[in-house]
Amino acid sequence: MTLDLLAMAAHPDDVEQTCGGTLIKAAEAGYRTGVLDLTEGEMGTRGSVEQRRREAEAAARHLLLEWRGNMKLPDARLENTLAARLSLAVKIRELKPRVVILPYWQARHPDHYRAAELGYEACFLAGLKKFDEYSEPHRPFQILYSSLYMDVKPSFVVDITAQFERRMQALLGYRSQYGAAASGQEIFPEEREIRERLGAIARFYGNLIGVRYGEPFVMKETMRVEDVLALGVRSL
Ligand SMILES: [Zn+2]
Repeated sequence: MTLDLLAMAAHPDDVEQTCGGTLIKAAEAGYRTGVLDLTEGEMGTRGSVEQRRREAEAAARHLLLEWRGNMKLPDARLENTLAARLSLAVKIRELKPRVVILPYWQARHPDHYRAAELGYEACFLAGLKKFDEYSEPHRPFQILYSSLYMDVKPSFVVDITAQFERRMQALLGYRSQYGAAASGQEIFPEEREIRERLGAIARFYGNLIGVRYGEPFVMKETMRVEDVLALGVRSL
């Protein structure tokens, strides 16, 4: 199995919130897309591992993914260990994604910024010829950071207006997390609140590029432009 685009994140349901629309859009354009969750979210207040596994599989269908896997690293105490880096690098060599999406490197939740660091270092290791003798070296051409939950200026925003509803369905499929269950209601907002909140965030980023809904990304490199007369965003 090889992929064009691979998103990595700490917990099942992370990518659905941060870059699901972009994944759907890429799949609709004919690219082979995948998601690698690093943990099974077993420390979450609500839902069993088995339930979240089924929900992640259902979400994968909404996201039109070719592939979804889980590294089963420890949730809520994700560490950038040598063992974790090596097993992730092996997976990257196997999947050979051209572009990788990671969480932004700063976050409130330690798992999220560790996932960014771990993902970056694994991508680097995966490109080393002498890493192992059983697999071909592969270093992704581009690493993008999904910055939706960070107050930083994005390098670019993807128009997900046409994909927004499908992304919402993928996220709301995590009934264990977003259903109106009897326990933990004070922590987990119900469906209407989720719709409003994610709608408002996507509207904010969409507004930056003159469309209805958008998803923001940061890249460390500078984008190259060939034709300054064909830029898509109008000046204010
Ligand atoms: Zn998370």
